[in-house]
Amino acid sequence: MQKLIALVLSLCMLMSVLPAMAENAPAAENENAAGKETPDEAAVLAEQAKALYEAGDYEAALPLFLKAAEMGNPSAQYALGLFYDLGLGVQKDAEKAVEYYRLAADQGLALAQCNLGVCYYNGNGVEQDYEMAVKYTRLAADQGDVQALYNLGNDYFSGRGVEKDYSEAYRLFCLAAEKGNADGLFAVGECYYLEIGVEKDLEAAAEWYRKALDAGFVPRDDEEAAHLKELIPGWVDNRSAESAPAEASARTTKIEAHFASVEEGQQLMRNRTLYHEQINAKNLEFMLQKKGGTLEEFIDYAAEQVQPFEPEEEKRISDILAWMQAQMEKHGLALPDPGTITFVKSSGKEAAGAAGYTSEGAVFLTPEFNSLTEDQAREIFVHEIFHCLSRLFPEFRQAMYSLIHFKVLDHDIDIPQEIRDEIMANPDVEHHNSTAVFTINGEKKECYLVFLTDTVFEKPGDIFINGAYVGIVPIGESVIYRADEVEDFWDVIGRNTNYNEDPEEIMATNFGMTILRLDDGMESFKTPEIPEGIITYLKNGGK
Ligand SMILES: [Zn+2]
Repeated sequence: MQKLIALVLSLCMLMSVLPAMAENAPAAENENAAGKETPDEAAVLAEQAKALYEAGDYEAALPLFLKAAEMGNPSAQYALGLFYDLGLGVQKDAEKAVEYYRLAADQGLALAQCNLGVCYYNGNGVEQDYEMAVKYTRLAADQGDVQALYNLGNDYFSGRGVEKDYSEAYRLFCLAAEKGNADGLFAVGECYYLEIGVEKDLEAAAEWYRKALDAGFVPRDDEEAAHLKELIPGWVDNRSAESAPAEASARTTKIEAHFASVEEGQQLMRNRTLYHEQINAKNLEFMLQKKGGTLEEFIDYAAEQVQPFEPEEEKRISDILAWMQAQMEKHGLALPDPGTITFVKSSGKEAAGAAGYTSEGAVFLTPEFNSLTEDQAREIFVHEIFHCLSRLFPEFRQAMYSLIHFKVLDHDIDIPQEIRDEIMANPDVEHHNSTAVFTINGEKKECYLVFLTDTVFEKPGDIFINGAYVGIVPIGESVIYRADEVEDFWDVIGRNTNYNEDPEEIMATNFGMTILRLDDGMESFKTPEIPEGIITYLKNGGK
């Protein structure tokens, strides 16, 4: 439940900057209209700059905005904040953006206060500070800024920078909804659905969802889509159709890194994800190293494992990112752009000693990562980036899985309970919704993969990975086959890796190996078609 709005929050925080741009125009007009019969010189300059900006001539608008900003015009200051924030006609510069937002915010401009709050929230151009985020967001919300009302609602929901208060979150979402804000309308629906500050009421939820859709709301993740699907008969999820062109055009070689503070890392650990829904009693025994643990205990335990990064660890990550960028550029490749990726350091005890894993848009790295050789570290690093991209870009995921003959279904597979009870959950495998055709006893069957273990937890020190193996399950059956019982197992998934518990891991491993070996060519792979397919995809922008 927590995940849902937390995710909404991070995305809304990004997007709030964009619609604000359009609001800049009326804001500038208001400044001019307010008070004076004859607009002052700064306001005239700002108007001229605005006209140039609206004509798309950012370069010409910039010096005029600068002059008007120096003369103290808050709308011009706010506009410059946006220019630097978004890189319009200038090199992106988050610190300068903060500087200009602050000038306008101090003069009481709500749009600037709202965006300054977002900068504090994301630690963008200023040290991350949730309390300062709340302070500025509240100033804007008090003036009725609709985005700020919505953002502040999220702050009360998540308890970041302010004491958690679901009733207040609900009240603020309602205020944003009253103003017709699509995210606010949907958030009110979510409150009814998830019982946040208001009693659960699915009929009311459906009503608010409908209003949100009428206002142009588009779900941002599968859970939001699932709620709409459940409560709005006939609603069609055409997100992938919409996101495909954007996906193909937004390409990058450079991935920005953000290093999480301990507090932030703990919050990420506490965000409920689909991974948590898969954790069964068997998983808990191994992870907590005792019988009868609960999910809540595990989440607390996981949060306790977060550690601060050492400066040399941050440097190693930055160096690997720079290496990755250089390799991509050298070979003419580009990735779907995931924006900034958050890195969190943890002890790894919560993840069976893995060197790394991911959750939402964050990569968790452990001390195990420090002990790897340079090549190993690079490969694992790219492997984790793959998981983030796969989660963010369905079209990328489908294209990658198809290289090992898997297709992604539009729904999660209905796995029999007796198998669910045995699956070793993996944070990088949130969905069991991909299948491939395997030959079993001479018969071709559509199957999915599950990760299992023969080991039974008896005493501390027992680890599941010792007896771990991949299970192949035909759709609609409860029989689990082992790889050696499937005639064409290796023909289907390729022979480049033994890490074969799920197509997600098979492809993440192939992906890491491919980027690592770009300079050597792909002849060293047992199944070179897979890395060749990856390279073709990255070269052609997904077409
Ligand atoms: Zn992985």
